[in-house]
Amino acid sequence: MMGQVYDRVALIGLGLIASSMGHAMKKWGLAGQITGHAKTAETRAAALELGFCDEVSATASEAVQGADLVVLAVPVGAMGGVAAEIAPHLKPGATVTDVGSVKQAVIEAVGPHLPANVHFVPGHPLAGTEHSGPRSGFPTLFVNRWTLLTPQGADPAAVARLRALWEGMGANVEEMEAGHHDLVLAVTSHTPHLIAYTMVGVADHLRRVTESEVIKYSAAGFRDFTRIAASDPTMWRDVFLTNREATLDILGRFTEELFTLQRAIRMGDGAMLHDYFTRTRAIRRGIIEAGQDTAAPDFGRGAKEDEA
Ligand code: NAP
Repeated sequence: MMGQVYDRVALIGLGLIASSMGHAMKKWGLAGQITGHAKTAETRAAALELGFCDEVSATASEAVQGADLVVLAVPVGAMGGVAAEIAPHLKPGATVTDVGSVKQAVIEAVGPHLPANVHFVPGHPLAGTEHSGPRSGFPTLFVNRWTLLTPQGADPAAVARLRALWEGMGANVEEMEAGHHDLVLAVTSHTPHLIAYTMVGVADHLRRVTESEVIKYSAAGFRDFTRIAASDPTMWRDVFLTNREATLDILGRFTEELFTLQRAIRMGDGAMLHDYFTRTRAIRRGIIEAGQDTAAPDFGRGAKEDEA
């Protein structure tokens, strides 16, 4: 594979995504030195113990000193505060990126704080699991998955270097406009998560009527919903608060479709339902053909695809 891409990397936030990046950079020799910072001492200690950081700092501003690449890997709602804190301590010429699931809101929250002499290249790896925290990461999380960069006119050399890092971690990289990213993700990830949360909520209400049957006879459909609905509450709260417009747009369309299906069921319109399900089956086949139907190889850790 390729050699070292950055000399010094700072990971701010040391959860699933940052720990996977740290493990991947170590595995493939992509970074000279990795410094980490997370809110709690417990997480920082775990990062050292697991070895995906060479050193950790008690503050974000200390962690970014001398870093060639700074990765903001905190919940979307915390990005702006972290950016304000680190801004005066960034090395001139450094690249700042993030891994947030929403792009427009992160650009608005982070961009204004950054000095003109650093390159801001926002990003989003479409890879994840329902697990969180520093112990949930693994080096192959990004292999054969997409990472979307939304550089908004950033220096092409800085973008190319960040692209090389993601490719070194096994990802396929594409550039996209931030607003378009947010709409695409509202369709492919954010609204489906909301629907899963809703369905599990419905079953929870029903459970009071059917007692434990919902759990006992939990079939594949509902089981899959519960897995998705187990995703980190803070992260998902922030996704919906910050990708509001696109999610509401897609939810509106979803509701219209749902009414159409509801009417077909009420009217006993079997032909309509059959046609509809035939079309949706074709979409599933397209995903399988594109090789995006399984999670990255995880060496038996049992992770499932659940990217935001
Ligand atoms: P996670 O496992 O829940 O970890 C979040 C980390 O951020 C923790 O280490 C936490 O520290 C730290 N943190 C939170 N607020 C902080 C602050 N103000 N200052 C410093 N550190 C702070 O999160 P994740 O799943 O890796 O997600 C990180 C980002 O990646 C999010 O923006 C999310 O939208 C995005 N993302 C997630 C997925 C996914 O499927 N999980 C996929 C793609 C992108 P403590 O542990 O000390 O509290």
